[in-house]
Amino acid sequence: MAQLSDDCFAFGGPMMSVDEAVGLITTRVNAIADLETVALVDADGRVLARDVAAPLPLPPFTNSAVDGYAVRNVDVPDGTEQAFLLDGRIQAGGLAHVPIKPGHTARIFTGAPMPPDAGTVFMQEDVRIDASGKIVLPAGLKPGANVRPAGEDIPQGHIALRAGQRLRPQHVALAAAFGSVGLDVVRRIRVAVFSTGDEIASPGEARAASQLFDSNRFMLMAMLRRLGCEVSDLGILRDERTSLAQGLKRFAGGHDLILTTGGVSTGEEDHVKAAVESIGSLVLWRMAIKPGRPVAMGIIDGTPLIGLPGNPVASFVTFVHVVRPTVLALAGSLPEPLSPIPVRAAFAYKKKIGRREYVRASLRRGDAGVLEAVKFPREGAGLLSSLVETDGLVELGEDIVHVEPGQSVGFLSYAGLL
Ligand code: AMP
Ligand code: MG
Repeated sequence: MAQLSDDCFAFGGPMMSVDEAVGLITTRVNAIADLETVALVDADGRVLARDVAAPLPLPPFTNSAVDGYAVRNVDVPDGTEQAFLLDGRIQAGGLAHVPIKPGHTARIFTGAPMPPDAGTVFMQEDVRIDASGKIVLPAGLKPGANVRPAGEDIPQGHIALRAGQRLRPQHVALAAAFGSVGLDVVRRIRVAVFSTGDEIASPGEARAASQLFDSNRFMLMAMLRRLGCEVSDLGILRDERTSLAQGLKRFAGGHDLILTTGGVSTGEEDHVKAAVESIGSLVLWRMAIKPGRPVAMGIIDGTPLIGLPGNPVASFVTFVHVVRPTVLALAGSLPEPLSPIPVRAAFAYKKKIGRREYVRASLRRGDAGVLEAVKFPREGAGLLSSLVETDGLVELGEDIVHVEPGQSVGFLSYAGLL
């Protein structure tokens, strides 16, 4: 388990910027050192634990990039076309040990090994066969054309995958191209997830008239799974300090991270702060982010705790900026800063200086095919429909005070967040 000191998230300032928060997390959280080996088919989304050096060059042997005719480089026609005698036929997967003779060409197919001495391949579309059956190759092709030399993609010994890489399908493909059957990855980060609140009922349970069904817990568990975590669903804790503390203490053991939602504001019925203080240590971060409100950071028996706000949109946005970097740091993942892509704002907006804001928006094609962000018409942090009916978040930095239609803004697609 992650062992952190009690004061590791203490912060002096009154308001923390998003960058300060991410910086604090990534420098204070210790990466889990436990590894496991997984089959390639199970490696997607896991964090690579060791560098992978290429055990063989890619491609492993020099081969033809096209279907066509191979010749020696010195025979490539220069100035006028030239007729060649056909000698040999090499298929993909076939052997090519007979050298090409001067003035001869061999029929060759994509992926087939180049015969010794051959250096250039003419595409079959550029070639004609004359009345005597000779192969007429045109002039003007560069010697070496249409050939994939051994190691041109990756030379043998090159560090092709770095420890800390969160594996995507292309990384798995590369490991397979090296002939690996499995990869050493960091074991899954174990996260305990709790909702809090007397007004929250679990789907499947009876709901009193004054209750709403728990949506955050399912959203957060799904987000954690997308980050490769092993999630323990620990249900709903009631708004009462002692039972909250008992619940957290009892179920939090054996996890690398404790995640709660709700009860972290400073109202009389927000008990997460006091509960955590009674069994561990806690700081409340007031983050300069909207939607957001306070986020609680704490340590219980050396295990980090993050208390997200209860409003679904605030919970979503703070997950992205606080939980995501924490999980990545726990897994020893290379940093994956979010990179908003520039789009044109199709809305006007005013905001406070010094605070980062995220505006829920849909994308559409505007004039000349330019991507435009259309703001969701309503702003409440409790509106789940605003997340469901949009494509992502427009990021408005601390310095921005207003947005005018047509202005370039940064857009984070939901698809790229996790
Ligand atoms: P809180 O942060 O506890 O003050 O809650 C803020 C708002 O979010 C309240 O309207 C809660 O009812 C709502 N809320 C809290 N927890 C959840 C949850 N797990 N699912 C959906 N809404 C919630
Ligand atoms: Mg509450």
